[in-house]
Amino acid sequence: MCTCLEALELPHQMLSASELRSDFRRLFLDNSQPGTFQHVFASVEDQLAGNPCLLHPERASCDSCDDSQPSLMISGSPCDPFSQQSGKRFQPGAVSGHKLFSVTMESIIAMYIDKQPPIGLFEQVMGFVMPFDAFSTETPYQRRGITRYKYATYQ
Ligand SMILES: [Zn+2]
Repeated sequence: MCTCLEALELPHQMLSASELRSDFRRLFLDNSQPGTFQHVFASVEDQLAGNPCLLHPERASCDSCDDSQPSLMISGSPCDPFSQQSGKRFQPGAVSGHKLFSVTMESIIAMYIDKQPPIGLFEQVMGFVMPFDAFSTETPYQRRGITRYKYATYQ
């Protein structure tokens, strides 16, 4: 993400990042200049709760945005609940009953609602904008008012 903004020569300040997997965190930290990220959280849930981040464990809390609103939020979440690669993808209850469904539909959405970025880049599989099941027309994208953000598809 940072590399893309740098490649486009867009001036930016990385307010925070959240990543569950320590090896993935190490990957992006090892590939960025020291001090690039102001806060790095172990999870979106930690960030939403205002817990101290991994860079500042001595603090009582870290506000990932301090006093400013982020102008851009880049996010992604596990594709497992929405993926057409699953043989159960269009069976009733398969999407909303998936154990990782709440990561996107609760935590990621809560982050957008909390931080209110005017622009959001959210990476997800095409199944996210497809009906929940073979008997529905509603899609995960249509839930919880996230349609405020328009989507485009890129392959
Ligand atoms: Zn911090």
